[in-house]
Amino acid sequence: ATPTAIITAMGKGAEMGILIKDAESLEKGVKIDTIILDKTGTITEGSPKVSEFVEMGNCTKLDRQVIYSLEKKSEHPLADAIADYLSAEEMAIQDFRSMTGHGVQGVAENQIYKVGNLKWIKTSETILHPELEKKSQNALEEGFIVVFASKNNQILGFFKIADLIKETSKEAIAILKKMDIEVHMLTGDQEKTASMVAKAVGVAHYQAEMLPEHKSKYIKKLQSQGKKVGMVGDGINDSEALSVADLSIAIGHGTDIAMDIAEITLVHSDLIDIPKALNLTKKSIKIIH
Ligand code: ADP
Ligand code: MG
Repeated sequence: ATPTAIITAMGKGAEMGILIKDAESLEKGVKIDTIILDKTGTITEGSPKVSEFVEMGNCTKLDRQVIYSLEKKSEHPLADAIADYLSAEEMAIQDFRSMTGHGVQGVAENQIYKVGNLKWIKTSETILHPELEKKSQNALEEGFIVVFASKNNQILGFFKIADLIKETSKEAIAILKKMDIEVHMLTGDQEKTASMVAKAVGVAHYQAEMLPEHKSKYIKKLQSQGKKVGMVGDGINDSEALSVADLSIAIGHGTDIAMDIAEITLVHSDLIDIPKALNLTKKSIKIIH
């Protein structure tokens, strides 16, 4: 590897908003034949907006204030969306817990509140009113992300949240496939939302309802089949997966942790820069040999 070729490639990358950590990252990039994409914040904008809070009649102003306060404590993009929508006055929460890939919970006025996915919220004592269940199913069919809230295991309602697919995601995935790169999507989100997004952007391999450790296991499995895996994520729940991948690529607007780990950072958060980055590594190595 000639230092000149490395410096040229890194300089060209930097001009395009593709930050390459070091020479080793360039060499790793050449071998990649599989790309794993996180959904939220990677394929999608990751700045979701609440369209509606569909409540049961039992949700009080205080309940909404507690939900707001819980989400204020979470760094999840869905939490920001919910807090923005409710914009109440923050109140004290006891026993706050953030359950990665599930949601958040805490105690206020001696009641246990949870906000997150239904699978996690639902217990044996939870009653899901058929009408509310129908409405949430419809919202999922329409492509919304659905997040439930509960008090003492009783459903208060659900948030209908929209997270737009980035304009260039579909094209970027098509380019990667043309380069003979297998593309997979992994998400902690539920099956229905995952399948809608995967279909919309042309990803055949996807897996929903994945916890962070599932994502890294999935990568290890592909690696055991001889695949060289590049993982692209925004770092919210992705750091474990990024660190096991053969090449880690962080989305620019993501968390600092992701950018610390990442061998390549895409400053513009645009998936079109993935094929560009891979081409850049190939070119630099060609010059080198
Ligand atoms: P992704 O892999 O698509 O980035 P995550 O693993 O970050 O998704 O989140 C998975 C799911 O967990 C979300 O779709 C949501 O249902 C739930 N969730 C996680 N954190 C929160 C939170 N703070 N508030 C509401 N829901 C949450
Ligand atoms: Mg994410």
